Amino acid sequence: MRLRSTNNNSPEVSFAEALFQGLAPDGGLYMPIALPNIFDRLEKLDGGNDFPAVAAQIIEGVLGDELGNALDFTRQTFPFAPALVRVSEGIQVLELWHGPSSAFKDYGASFLAAAMERLLQDRNQRAIILTATSGDTGSAVAQAFYGRENIDVVILFPEGRVSPLQEKQLTTLGGNIHALQVKGAFDDCQRMVKEAFMDKQLCQQVPLTSANSINIGRLVPQSFYYVYAWAQLRAAGVSECSFVVPSGNFGNLTAGVLAWKWGLPVKGFVAATNVNDVVPEYLKTAQYNPRESVATYSNAMDVGTPSNFDRLQAIFGGSCEEMKNMIAGEVVTDEQTLQTMQRYYQEHKVFLDPHTAVGVLAAERRRASGDKSEMIVLGTAHPGKFLEVVKEATGVLPDLPERLAAVLEKKGHADPIFPDVADLRAYLLEKFAGQVI
Ligand SMILES: *Cc1c(COP(=O)(O)O)cnc(C)c1O
Repeated sequence: MRLRSTNNNSPEVSFAEALFQGLAPDGGLYMPIALPNIFDRLEKLDGGNDFPAVAAQIIEGVLGDELGNALDFTRQTFPFAPALVRVSEGIQVLELWHGPSSAFKDYGASFLAAAMERLLQDRNQRAIILTATSGDTGSAVAQAFYGRENIDVVILFPEGRVSPLQEKQLTTLGGNIHALQVKGAFDDCQRMVKEAFMDKQLCQQVPLTSANSINIGRLVPQSFYYVYAWAQLRAAGVSECSFVVPSGNFGNLTAGVLAWKWGLPVKGFVAATNVNDVVPEYLKTAQYNPRESVATYSNAMDVGTPSNFDRLQAIFGGSCEEMKNMIAGEVVTDEQTLQTMQRYYQEHKVFLDPHTAVGVLAAERRRASGDKSEMIVLGTAHPGKFLEVVKEATGVLPDLPERLAAVLEKKGHADPIFPDVADLRAYLLEKFAGQVI
Protein backbone atom coordinates (compact mmCIF):
# COMPACT_ATOMS: atom_id res chain seq x y z
CA MET A 1 0.00 0.00 0.00
CA ARG A 2 1.34 3.45 -0.92
CA LEU A 3 0.13 6.47 0.99
CA ARG A 4 -0.01 10.19 0.45
CA SER A 5 -0.50 13.11 2.85
CA THR A 6 -3.86 14.91 2.81
CA ASN A 7 -1.81 18.13 2.52
CA ASN A 8 -0.21 16.78 -0.67
CA ASN A 9 3.11 18.29 0.23
CA SER A 10 5.38 15.46 1.35
CA PRO A 11 6.76 12.33 -0.33
CA GLU A 12 4.64 9.22 -0.84
CA VAL A 13 5.44 6.51 1.69
CA SER A 14 4.97 2.77 2.26
CA PHE A 15 2.55 1.44 4.88
CA ALA A 16 5.47 0.72 7.25
CA GLU A 17 6.82 4.26 6.91
CA ALA A 18 3.38 5.73 7.55
CA LEU A 19 3.05 3.62 10.71
CA PHE A 20 6.26 4.89 12.26
CA GLN A 21 5.83 8.50 11.11
CA GLY A 22 2.22 8.87 12.27
CA LEU A 23 1.74 12.40 10.99
CA ALA A 24 3.18 13.29 7.56
CA PRO A 25 6.07 15.81 7.57
CA ASP A 26 3.78 18.46 6.00
CA GLY A 27 1.38 18.11 8.93
CA GLY A 28 -1.21 16.16 6.90
CA LEU A 29 -2.71 12.73 7.47
CA TYR A 30 -1.71 9.70 5.45
CA MET A 31 -4.31 8.22 3.11
CA PRO A 32 -4.00 5.22 0.76
CA ILE A 33 -3.45 6.46 -2.81
CA ALA A 34 -5.24 3.59 -4.53
CA LEU A 35 -8.49 2.15 -3.23
CA PRO A 36 -8.61 -1.36 -4.70
CA ASN A 37 -12.03 -2.96 -5.06
CA ILE A 38 -11.99 -6.21 -3.11
CA PHE A 39 -15.68 -7.08 -3.39
CA ASP A 40 -14.83 -10.47 -4.95
CA ARG A 41 -13.03 -11.42 -1.74
CA LEU A 42 -15.73 -10.03 0.53
CA GLU A 43 -18.46 -11.83 -1.34
CA LYS A 44 -16.91 -15.20 -0.46
CA LEU A 45 -17.21 -14.45 3.26
CA ASP A 46 -20.19 -15.77 5.15
CA GLY A 47 -21.46 -16.02 8.71
CA GLY A 48 -19.13 -18.96 9.32
CA ASN A 49 -15.99 -16.85 8.96
CA ASP A 50 -14.69 -15.68 12.33
CA PHE A 51 -13.28 -12.21 12.87
CA PRO A 52 -9.60 -13.07 12.16
CA ALA A 53 -10.63 -14.76 8.90
CA VAL A 54 -12.56 -11.68 7.76
CA ALA A 55 -9.72 -9.37 8.79
CA ALA A 56 -7.18 -11.51 6.90
CA GLN A 57 -9.19 -11.23 3.66
CA ILE A 58 -9.12 -7.45 3.86
CA ILE A 59 -5.42 -7.34 4.73
CA GLU A 60 -4.58 -9.59 1.77
CA GLY A 61 -6.76 -7.45 -0.48
CA VAL A 62 -5.44 -4.04 0.48
CA LEU A 63 -2.02 -4.63 2.11
CA GLY A 64 -0.86 -7.79 0.37
CA ASP A 65 1.84 -9.59 2.38
CA GLU A 66 3.33 -6.55 4.13
CA LEU A 67 2.66 -8.19 7.50
CA GLY A 68 3.59 -11.75 6.55
CA ASN A 69 0.90 -14.42 6.50
CA ALA A 70 -2.29 -12.43 7.04
CA LEU A 71 -4.27 -15.12 8.84
CA ASP A 72 -1.42 -15.95 11.25
CA PHE A 73 -1.14 -12.25 11.94
CA THR A 74 -4.84 -11.65 12.62
CA ARG A 75 -5.21 -14.77 14.79
CA GLN A 76 -2.42 -13.52 17.05
CA THR A 77 -3.58 -9.90 17.01
CA PHE A 78 -7.28 -10.35 17.74
CA PRO A 79 -8.01 -12.77 20.60
CA PHE A 80 -11.29 -10.84 21.01
CA ALA A 81 -14.16 -10.35 18.54
CA PRO A 82 -17.21 -8.14 17.99
CA ALA A 83 -20.72 -9.37 18.79
CA LEU A 84 -23.90 -8.36 16.98
CA VAL A 85 -26.90 -7.93 19.29
CA ARG A 86 -30.43 -6.95 18.26
CA VAL A 87 -31.73 -4.26 20.65
CA SER A 88 -35.02 -3.23 19.01
CA GLU A 89 -36.97 -3.38 15.74
CA GLY A 90 -34.51 -2.94 12.86
CA ILE A 91 -31.66 -1.90 15.15
CA GLN A 92 -28.64 -3.97 16.14
CA VAL A 93 -25.64 -3.00 18.20
CA LEU A 94 -22.23 -4.17 17.06
CA GLU A 95 -20.50 -4.57 20.43
CA LEU A 96 -16.89 -3.55 19.99
CA TRP A 97 -15.96 -3.60 23.65
CA HIS A 98 -14.89 -7.19 24.20
CA GLY A 99 -11.18 -6.31 24.07
CA PRO A 100 -8.76 -5.61 26.93
CA SER A 101 -9.72 -1.96 27.62
CA SER A 102 -13.45 -2.51 26.93
CA ALA A 103 -13.71 0.05 24.12
CA PHE A 104 -13.44 -0.15 20.33
CA LYS A 105 -10.04 1.53 20.36
CA ASP A 106 -8.60 -1.88 21.28
CA TYR A 107 -8.92 -2.93 17.62
CA GLY A 108 -6.80 -0.10 16.27
CA ALA A 109 -4.28 -0.21 19.10
CA SER A 110 -3.80 -4.00 18.93
CA PHE A 111 -3.29 -3.96 15.19
CA LEU A 112 -0.83 -1.07 15.36
CA ALA A 113 1.14 -2.73 18.16
CA ALA A 114 1.33 -6.09 16.39
CA ALA A 115 2.25 -4.50 13.06
CA MET A 116 4.98 -2.35 14.61
CA GLU A 117 6.41 -5.32 16.50
CA ARG A 118 6.56 -7.40 13.35
CA LEU A 119 8.17 -4.66 11.23
CA LEU A 120 10.73 -3.85 13.94
CA GLN A 121 11.71 -7.49 14.34
CA ASP A 122 12.16 -7.79 10.56
CA ARG A 123 14.53 -4.80 10.61
CA ASN A 124 16.17 -5.60 13.94
CA GLN A 125 15.21 -2.17 15.31
CA ARG A 126 13.69 -0.79 18.48
CA ALA A 127 11.06 1.88 19.02
CA ILE A 128 10.00 3.96 22.00
CA ILE A 129 6.36 4.99 21.83
CA LEU A 130 5.82 8.36 23.51
CA THR A 131 2.25 9.35 24.19
CA ALA A 132 0.16 11.69 26.33
CA THR A 133 -3.26 10.67 27.55
CA SER A 134 -6.21 12.19 29.35
CA GLY A 135 -7.34 8.66 30.15
CA ASP A 136 -8.98 6.37 27.66
CA THR A 137 -6.70 6.11 24.63
CA GLY A 138 -3.69 5.60 26.88
CA SER A 139 -5.14 2.48 28.42
CA ALA A 140 -5.93 0.88 25.06
CA VAL A 141 -2.39 1.68 23.87
CA ALA A 142 -0.80 0.39 27.09
CA GLN A 143 -2.70 -2.91 26.92
CA ALA A 144 -1.97 -3.39 23.22
CA PHE A 145 1.79 -2.79 23.50
CA TYR A 146 2.31 -4.64 26.75
CA GLY A 147 4.93 -7.37 26.36
CA ARG A 148 5.73 -6.54 22.72
CA GLU A 149 9.30 -7.24 21.63
CA ASN A 150 11.59 -4.33 20.63
CA ILE A 151 9.09 -1.73 21.90
CA ASP A 152 8.83 0.37 25.06
CA VAL A 153 5.94 2.71 25.79
CA VAL A 154 6.19 5.91 27.83
CA ILE A 155 2.80 7.33 28.79
CA LEU A 156 2.36 10.78 30.32
CA PHE A 157 -0.82 11.45 32.27
CA PRO A 158 -1.87 14.42 34.43
CA GLU A 159 -1.61 13.60 38.13
CA GLY A 160 -5.01 13.34 39.79
CA ARG A 161 -6.93 14.16 36.62
CA VAL A 162 -7.66 10.72 35.21
CA SER A 163 -10.25 8.43 36.79
CA PRO A 164 -8.98 5.94 39.41
CA LEU A 165 -9.73 3.05 37.03
CA GLN A 166 -7.89 4.69 34.15
CA GLU A 167 -4.91 5.38 36.39
CA LYS A 168 -4.77 1.72 37.38
CA GLN A 169 -4.99 0.67 33.73
CA LEU A 170 -1.97 2.82 32.92
CA THR A 171 0.17 2.02 35.95
CA THR A 172 -0.36 -1.65 36.78
CA LEU A 173 1.07 -3.33 33.69
CA GLY A 174 4.76 -2.63 34.30
CA GLY A 175 7.29 -4.39 32.07
CA ASN A 176 7.75 -2.36 28.88
CA ILE A 177 4.95 0.09 29.82
CA HIS A 178 6.30 3.10 31.72
CA ALA A 179 3.83 5.54 33.28
CA LEU A 180 4.87 9.13 34.03
CA GLN A 181 2.64 11.08 36.37
CA VAL A 182 2.95 14.72 35.35
CA LYS A 183 2.49 17.41 37.97
CA GLY A 184 0.29 19.45 35.68
CA ALA A 185 -2.66 19.27 33.29
CA PHE A 186 -3.27 17.19 30.15
CA ASP A 187 -2.16 20.15 28.04
CA ASP A 188 1.24 20.02 29.79
CA CYS A 189 1.54 16.33 28.93
CA GLN A 190 0.75 17.03 25.29
CA ARG A 191 3.16 19.95 25.12
CA MET A 192 6.01 17.89 26.61
CA VAL A 193 5.44 15.11 24.07
CA LYS A 194 5.33 17.58 21.21
CA GLU A 195 8.52 19.30 22.36
CA ALA A 196 10.30 15.98 22.75
CA PHE A 197 9.45 15.07 19.15
CA MET A 198 10.81 18.44 17.97
CA ASP A 199 14.14 17.89 19.80
CA LYS A 200 16.29 16.62 16.89
CA GLN A 201 19.20 15.66 19.12
CA LEU A 202 17.00 13.62 21.42
CA CYS A 203 15.36 11.89 18.45
CA GLN A 204 18.80 10.86 17.17
CA GLN A 205 19.59 9.14 20.46
CA VAL A 206 16.19 7.65 21.24
CA PRO A 207 14.01 6.25 18.40
CA LEU A 208 10.79 7.99 19.39
CA THR A 209 7.53 7.24 17.64
CA SER A 210 3.85 7.91 18.36
CA ALA A 211 0.74 5.78 18.47
CA ASN A 212 -1.97 8.39 18.45
CA SER A 213 -5.34 8.09 16.84
CA ILE A 214 -4.38 9.77 13.57
CA ASN A 215 -2.02 6.89 12.73
CA ILE A 216 -3.23 5.07 9.60
CA GLY A 217 -2.29 1.84 11.41
CA ARG A 218 -5.16 2.45 13.79
CA LEU A 219 -7.62 3.33 11.07
CA VAL A 220 -7.26 0.40 8.66
CA PRO A 221 -8.17 -2.30 11.24
CA GLN A 222 -11.32 -0.42 12.19
CA SER A 223 -12.66 -1.24 8.74
CA PHE A 224 -12.55 -4.97 9.57
CA TYR A 225 -15.59 -5.02 11.83
CA TYR A 226 -17.83 -3.32 9.29
CA VAL A 227 -17.13 -6.17 6.91
CA TYR A 228 -17.52 -8.75 9.68
CA ALA A 229 -20.96 -7.36 10.60
CA TRP A 230 -22.05 -7.28 6.97
CA ALA A 231 -21.04 -10.94 6.45
CA GLN A 232 -23.01 -11.95 9.56
CA LEU A 233 -26.06 -9.98 8.48
CA ARG A 234 -26.00 -11.34 4.97
CA ALA A 235 -25.86 -14.88 6.35
CA ALA A 236 -28.91 -14.03 8.47
CA GLY A 237 -30.81 -12.89 5.37
CA VAL A 238 -30.58 -9.12 5.92
CA SER A 239 -30.32 -7.54 2.49
CA GLU A 240 -29.55 -3.90 3.22
CA CYS A 241 -27.77 -2.24 6.10
CA SER A 242 -26.63 1.18 7.27
CA PHE A 243 -23.97 1.86 9.89
CA VAL A 244 -24.59 4.37 12.65
CA VAL A 245 -21.33 5.63 14.13
CA PRO A 246 -21.10 7.56 17.42
CA SER A 247 -18.37 10.01 16.43
CA GLY A 248 -15.83 12.42 17.89
CA ASN A 249 -12.63 12.48 15.87
CA PHE A 250 -14.36 10.52 13.07
CA GLY A 251 -11.73 7.77 12.84
CA ASN A 252 -14.33 5.06 13.17
CA LEU A 253 -16.60 6.55 10.53
CA THR A 254 -13.69 7.14 8.14
CA ALA A 255 -12.72 3.47 8.48
CA GLY A 256 -16.27 2.45 7.55
CA VAL A 257 -16.21 4.72 4.52
CA LEU A 258 -12.90 3.13 3.49
CA ALA A 259 -14.51 -0.32 3.71
CA TRP A 260 -17.31 0.95 1.45
CA LYS A 261 -14.73 2.30 -1.01
CA TRP A 262 -13.09 -1.13 -1.01
CA GLY A 263 -16.38 -2.59 -2.20
CA LEU A 264 -18.47 -3.26 0.91
CA PRO A 265 -22.16 -2.93 -0.04
CA VAL A 266 -23.57 -0.38 2.42
CA LYS A 267 -26.77 1.64 2.09
CA GLY A 268 -25.27 4.56 4.01
CA PHE A 269 -23.65 5.87 7.18
CA VAL A 270 -24.98 8.01 9.98
CA ALA A 271 -22.58 10.39 11.73
CA ALA A 272 -24.08 10.51 15.22
CA THR A 273 -22.65 13.18 17.49
CA ASN A 274 -23.45 14.86 20.79
CA VAL A 275 -23.78 18.67 20.74
CA ASN A 276 -20.23 18.88 19.41
CA ASP A 277 -21.79 18.78 15.98
CA VAL A 278 -19.38 20.38 13.49
CA VAL A 279 -19.75 17.52 11.00
CA PRO A 280 -23.57 17.21 11.07
CA GLU A 281 -23.61 20.99 10.71
CA TYR A 282 -21.30 20.75 7.69
CA LEU A 283 -23.60 18.15 6.12
CA LYS A 284 -26.54 20.52 6.60
CA THR A 285 -24.96 23.82 5.60
CA ALA A 286 -21.76 22.93 3.65
CA GLN A 287 -19.96 25.19 6.14
CA TYR A 288 -17.15 23.68 8.22
CA ASN A 289 -16.66 25.59 11.47
CA PRO A 290 -14.31 23.79 13.88
CA ARG A 291 -14.54 25.23 17.38
CA GLU A 292 -13.86 24.61 21.08
CA SER A 293 -15.52 21.46 22.38
CA VAL A 294 -18.09 21.42 25.16
CA ALA A 295 -18.31 18.75 27.87
CA THR A 296 -21.06 16.12 27.60
CA TYR A 297 -21.90 12.68 29.04
CA SER A 298 -20.42 11.03 25.94
CA ASN A 299 -17.06 12.59 26.69
CA ALA A 300 -14.97 10.53 24.26
CA MET A 301 -16.92 12.38 21.55
CA ASP A 302 -16.29 15.88 22.93
CA VAL A 303 -14.29 17.03 19.95
CA GLY A 304 -14.63 20.43 18.32
CA THR A 305 -11.95 19.91 15.66
CA PRO A 306 -12.36 16.34 14.37
CA SER A 307 -8.93 15.17 13.27
CA ASN A 308 -10.17 12.84 10.53
CA PHE A 309 -12.35 15.37 8.73
CA ASP A 310 -9.55 15.97 6.21
CA ARG A 311 -9.52 12.28 5.40
CA LEU A 312 -13.27 12.26 4.82
CA GLN A 313 -12.91 15.27 2.56
CA ALA A 314 -10.13 13.55 0.63
CA ILE A 315 -12.37 10.51 0.06
CA PHE A 316 -15.26 12.62 -1.21
CA GLY A 317 -13.07 14.92 -3.28
CA GLY A 318 -13.95 17.91 -1.10
CA SER A 319 -17.60 17.77 -2.17
CA CYS A 320 -20.24 18.19 0.50
CA GLU A 321 -22.89 16.89 -1.93
CA GLU A 322 -20.95 13.65 -2.46
CA MET A 323 -20.48 13.21 1.26
CA LYS A 324 -24.17 13.82 1.88
CA ASN A 325 -25.10 11.09 -0.57
CA MET A 326 -23.41 8.60 1.75
CA ILE A 327 -23.43 10.15 5.24
CA ALA A 328 -26.37 11.57 7.20
CA GLY A 329 -25.79 13.64 10.34
CA GLU A 330 -27.71 13.32 13.63
CA VAL A 331 -27.17 15.37 16.78
CA VAL A 332 -28.19 14.09 20.22
CA THR A 333 -28.26 16.19 23.41
CA ASP A 334 -27.26 14.98 26.88
CA GLU A 335 -30.89 14.89 27.97
CA GLN A 336 -31.84 12.75 24.98
CA THR A 337 -28.86 10.50 25.69
CA LEU A 338 -30.03 9.88 29.26
CA GLN A 339 -33.63 9.31 28.15
CA THR A 340 -32.49 6.76 25.56
CA MET A 341 -30.38 4.91 28.13
CA GLN A 342 -33.32 4.86 30.53
CA ARG A 343 -35.82 3.74 27.90
CA TYR A 344 -33.64 0.90 26.63
CA TYR A 345 -33.08 -0.33 30.14
CA GLN A 346 -36.77 -0.19 31.03
CA GLU A 347 -38.22 -1.49 27.75
CA HIS A 348 -35.56 -3.86 26.51
CA LYS A 349 -33.41 -4.61 29.59
CA VAL A 350 -30.39 -3.36 27.67
CA PHE A 351 -27.63 -1.26 29.25
CA LEU A 352 -26.21 1.30 26.82
CA ASP A 353 -23.15 3.41 27.50
CA PRO A 354 -23.71 7.12 26.72
CA HIS A 355 -21.79 6.97 23.40
CA THR A 356 -23.68 3.98 22.06
CA ALA A 357 -26.93 5.59 23.24
CA VAL A 358 -26.25 8.58 20.98
CA GLY A 359 -25.99 6.11 18.09
CA VAL A 360 -29.13 4.19 19.04
CA LEU A 361 -31.30 7.32 19.14
CA ALA A 362 -29.83 8.44 15.80
CA ALA A 363 -30.73 5.02 14.37
CA GLU A 364 -34.31 5.31 15.64
CA ARG A 365 -34.64 8.70 13.98
CA ARG A 366 -33.41 7.36 10.64
CA ARG A 367 -35.89 4.49 10.80
CA ALA A 368 -38.69 6.90 11.72
CA SER A 369 -37.79 9.12 8.77
CA GLY A 370 -38.44 6.22 6.39
CA ASP A 371 -35.03 4.55 5.99
CA LYS A 372 -35.92 0.90 6.45
CA SER A 373 -32.44 -0.53 6.05
CA GLU A 374 -31.18 -2.50 9.07
CA MET A 375 -29.40 -0.03 11.35
CA ILE A 376 -26.12 -1.29 12.77
CA VAL A 377 -25.02 0.94 15.65
CA LEU A 378 -21.37 0.70 16.60
CA GLY A 379 -21.29 -0.11 20.33
CA THR A 380 -18.16 1.82 21.19
CA ALA A 381 -17.74 1.15 24.95
CA HIS A 382 -18.90 -1.21 27.69
CA PRO A 383 -21.60 0.47 29.85
CA GLY A 384 -19.60 -0.48 32.95
CA LYS A 385 -16.96 2.08 31.96
CA PHE A 386 -19.47 4.87 32.56
CA LEU A 387 -20.94 3.80 35.88
CA GLU A 388 -22.11 7.21 37.08
CA VAL A 389 -24.03 8.11 33.92
CA VAL A 390 -25.61 4.66 33.64
CA LYS A 391 -26.66 4.87 37.29
CA GLU A 392 -28.16 8.32 36.74
CA ALA A 393 -30.11 7.15 33.70
CA THR A 394 -31.33 3.77 34.93
CA GLY A 395 -31.04 3.88 38.71
CA VAL A 396 -29.00 0.70 38.49
CA LEU A 397 -25.25 0.21 38.71
CA PRO A 398 -24.08 -2.04 35.86
CA ASP A 399 -21.35 -4.60 36.46
CA LEU A 400 -17.81 -3.59 35.71
CA PRO A 401 -16.31 -5.91 33.09
CA GLU A 402 -14.36 -8.58 34.97
CA ARG A 403 -11.01 -7.62 33.48
CA LEU A 404 -11.46 -4.03 34.64
CA ALA A 405 -12.60 -5.01 38.11
CA ALA A 406 -9.45 -7.13 38.44
CA VAL A 407 -7.26 -4.14 37.59
CA LEU A 408 -8.71 -2.12 40.48
CA GLU A 409 -7.27 -4.65 42.93
CA LYS A 410 -3.73 -4.27 41.65
CA LYS A 411 -1.06 -1.89 42.86
CA GLY A 412 0.21 0.59 40.30
CA HIS A 413 3.50 2.35 39.78
CA ALA A 414 4.16 5.71 38.11
CA ASP A 415 7.25 7.93 38.19
CA PRO A 416 6.42 11.53 39.09
CA ILE A 417 7.75 14.22 36.75
CA PHE A 418 7.57 18.02 36.56
CA PRO A 419 5.83 19.53 33.53
CA ASP A 420 9.13 20.41 31.88
CA VAL A 421 10.45 18.85 28.69
CA ALA A 422 14.02 18.99 30.08
CA ASP A 423 12.98 16.48 32.74
CA LEU A 424 11.34 14.25 30.14
CA ARG A 425 14.46 14.44 27.99
CA ALA A 426 16.66 13.41 30.91
CA TYR A 427 14.32 10.52 31.73
CA LEU A 428 14.30 9.21 28.15
CA LEU A 429 18.07 9.49 27.73
CA GLU A 430 18.80 7.76 31.00
CA LYS A 431 16.40 4.95 30.32
CA PHE A 432 16.80 4.30 26.63
CA ALA A 433 19.82 6.01 25.06
CA GLY A 434 22.27 3.20 25.81
CA GLN A 435 20.21 0.26 24.63
CA VAL A 436 19.21 1.29 21.13
CA ILE A 437 20.17 -1.17 18.41
C1 LIG B 1 -13.03 7.33 20.81
C2 LIG B 1 -14.45 7.04 21.13
C3 LIG B 1 -15.50 7.46 20.30
C4 LIG B 1 -15.29 8.34 19.09
O1 LIG B 1 -14.62 7.68 18.06
P1 LIG B 1 -13.94 8.52 16.87
O2 LIG B 1 -13.24 7.53 16.03
O3 LIG B 1 -13.00 9.48 17.54
O4 LIG B 1 -15.02 9.23 16.15
C5 LIG B 1 -16.80 7.08 20.61
N1 LIG B 1 -17.05 6.34 21.70
C6 LIG B 1 -16.07 5.92 22.54
C7 LIG B 1 -16.42 5.12 23.74
C8 LIG B 1 -14.73 6.25 22.28
O5 LIG B 1 -13.77 5.84 23.12
